Amino acid sequence: MTERPLLLLDVDGPLNPFRSPFARLRGYTSHRMKPDVWLSYRDPESRSARRGARVRLHPSHGPRLLALPFELTWATAWTHQANTMIAPHIGLPGDLPVVEWPELFARDPDGLSWKTRPLVDWAAGRPFAWVDDMITPADRTWVAAHHPTPALLLRIHPRHGLRDRDFSTLTRWAAGISAAGR
Ligand SMILES: [Mg+2]
Repeated sequence: MTERPLLLLDVDGPLNPFRSPFARLRGYTSHRMKPDVWLSYRDPESRSARRGARVRLHPSHGPRLLALPFELTWATAWTHQANTMIAPHIGLPGDLPVVEWPELFARDPDGLSWKTRPLVDWAAGRPFAWVDDMITPADRTWVAAHHPTPALLLRIHPRHGLRDRDFSTLTRWAAGISAAGR
């Protein structure tokens, strides 16, 4: 059996469209959460820290992601809290693999995303799709030069979150690489 490509999934941007003014109208539910990474930048006594971060999530995203021919993996600064805090609201299992970062938000010497090099290391030569709001052309160029198998870097605008067109793109891309591998 051919191994499925990895789907390396970010939280803020693709699943939580934090710039969307109309998320609720589009079927998103609104939550208050206190992930460690978010709390670490706040005074614990502040009103903001007490209330928690507003997170919008779409209940259809989990089933739609699970239906894709990928192996889902969290690639987010939420790390393991994506499994405990995000997954239950969107219908994903609470035990998906989680990318362990050497350092959160590390400054990259070549101006890449702080995730780019660790993700290529994580993929270890396996085809992957990376779904994130922070992908830039520099990341695409670097991955094309340093990753030996197909990689799809799919940038999702935080105003939109994952949309139908993105699910189609992922489906088409996976079909393309599986056809090429036959
Ligand atoms: Mg993000």
